[in-house]
Amino acid sequence: AKSSGKNNFKFFTEKMREQINERMQMENHLRQAILRNEFELHYQPQVDLGTGRIIGMEALVRWNHPEWGMVHPEKFIRVAEECNLVIPLGEWVLCEACRQISQWSRQGLEAVCISVNISARQLKSRYLFTLIDNLMMTHQIKPGMLELEITESAVMDDPEQTIPRMKELKNKGVALAIDDFGTGYSSLSYLKLLPLTRLKIDRSFVKDIETDPNDAAICAATIALARTLGLGLVAEGVETEAQLEYLRAQGCDSAQGYYFSKPLPANNIMAFVSRHQQE
Ligand code: C2E
Ligand code: CA
Ligand code: CA
Ligand code: CA
Repeated sequence: AKSSGKNNFKFFTEKMREQINERMQMENHLRQAILRNEFELHYQPQVDLGTGRIIGMEALVRWNHPEWGMVHPEKFIRVAEECNLVIPLGEWVLCEACRQISQWSRQGLEAVCISVNISARQLKSRYLFTLIDNLMMTHQIKPGMLELEITESAVMDDPEQTIPRMKELKNKGVALAIDDFGTGYSSLSYLKLLPLTRLKIDRSFVKDIETDPNDAAICAATIALARTLGLGLVAEGVETEAQLEYLRAQGCDSAQGYYFSKPLPANNIMAFVSRHQQE
């Protein structure tokens, strides 16, 4: 038993060393990727369930690695957060999204709000405000055209610090959404204090909405809550007609998901929107 314990320990440390190596490699790759500008944004349309029109798009970062191809954020965002690279990456994402907003509005794509995901660390960085001011001025971003998505946990992490910051962003004309709503622990009393525009129901509740009565009840309650608080609501991860119909019947405003479209490269957006709005 003693020697097997020793072996376990050896195995454990080797495994750990391997993981640390992998992480350090990922960190180096990420650093280079930022310098080499290997990231791009894809956009996923959000549809108004009343009118059927596209009212917004969520910007989702992709890493176009020269060998690995298109890498999705679940493979790198956590590492980026842990080693603080999420700050420069997040700055790039904001700059690129604002540049795209102004390009699209010059091309006639109006009244479509672009949502950008903001990490907890970014929300705490003082430089965020200067950056947003500069971007809004340079690209003449009108109030309501840029939305920041902040997860429940990022807000609740330190509400005394985040709430005033969110108010400052709101005053600048930036719309604010709570992302992955229902997965964190936001108390409803805080929700009232936050300067929010919308709640986004997490995909995990939409997934089994037809078969799991608990998930269906959570969606219905969130929709009712948003209505009571006067907030907009987006259901994420809608893949089927049946999910859509359930959400619509409960009074859900808008939805996003593969049912309408996967996230698309920026170049495909204008064509998608004009095809969609004509139908
Ligand atoms: P999220 O903010 O919850 O984004 C929604 C994710 O669900 C996206 O994954 C999207 O592609 C996926 N999705 C949308 N509709 C459907 C659907 O109908 N079915 C399924 N199965 N999935 C759907 P993605 O693009 O891989 O992003 C994953 C997460 O990475 C995001 O989750 C977000 O937390 C984070 N992320 C993405 N871009 C950024 C960014 O620019 N900055 C930061 N800080 N985080 C980002
Ligand atoms: Ca999001
Ligand atoms: Ca989400
Ligand atoms: Ca999510």
